[in-house]
Amino acid sequence: MNAKVWLVGAGPGDPELLTLKAVRALGEADVVLIDDLVNPAVLEHCPGARVIPVGKRGGCRSTPQAFIYRLMLRYARQGRCVVRLKGGDPCIFGRGGEEAQWLKARGIEVELVNGITAGLAGATRCDIPLTLRGVARGVTLVTAHTQDDSQLNWQALAHSGTTLVIYMGVAKLAEIAEQLLGGALAADTPVAMIENASLPQQRECRSVLANMERDAQVFALKSPAILVIGAVAATASVTAPTSETQVQLA
Ligand code: SAH
Repeated sequence: MNAKVWLVGAGPGDPELLTLKAVRALGEADVVLIDDLVNPAVLEHCPGARVIPVGKRGGCRSTPQAFIYRLMLRYARQGRCVVRLKGGDPCIFGRGGEEAQWLKARGIEVELVNGITAGLAGATRCDIPLTLRGVARGVTLVTAHTQDDSQLNWQALAHSGTTLVIYMGVAKLAEIAEQLLGGALAADTPVAMIENASLPQQRECRSVLANMERDAQVFALKSPAILVIGAVAATASVTAPTSETQVQLA
């Protein structure tokens, strides 16, 4: 039997941002392990599959990662086609790399499938061009949250001249602002905070570095959200925002 696990990115939320390859993998799946941040609407592509929620809110309490590994291994060894469906891209803060290695080390064939990562989708949905010519020469994706509390080199990031896209930053806004200001990024550097990117309930809050924590509080910014920091974050939305979904606080 040909044991195989697909590690598939489901994109940021909008089901139309799913790739054709992801749709094909879902169509072949016998078992789908689905993370919290995946929009369940994408499951229309796997009507016959057994769907197992494995996110923290899915009832999987202690040692969730070990539990997920065991499930994938068990089903794959039974010869079932397993799809592990993750929010955004599986390899952008999604453990796709470590899961692929773990499975390969046990003789399981693995195929990774890109998804559109939340940072890119959020910026685009707010009409922010992350690498606008003449303004930003690059983009850096970083996480504000690490397992071992190791520190990022914020000084280097502040001087990188690239747009910063920060994941898992909602609870760390004060620290992020302090570190980047300490790295000599200007107090009036534009910031866009984008919640529920690409979903109907998407909200965006525009601010500047020195005010972003205060403004996020007033806005009641909640996870999941990404932060876009850099000159391009001042690019106005092309589509007229409603007062419900966008505020300009800076
Ligand atoms: N693999 C995912 C990221 C998982 S880490 C990806 O590529 O998008 C989880 C973090 O992603 C959240 O804390 C948040 O910062 C971000 N995120 C995921 N979905 C999001 C969404 N729809 N809107 C805004 N941020 C999102």
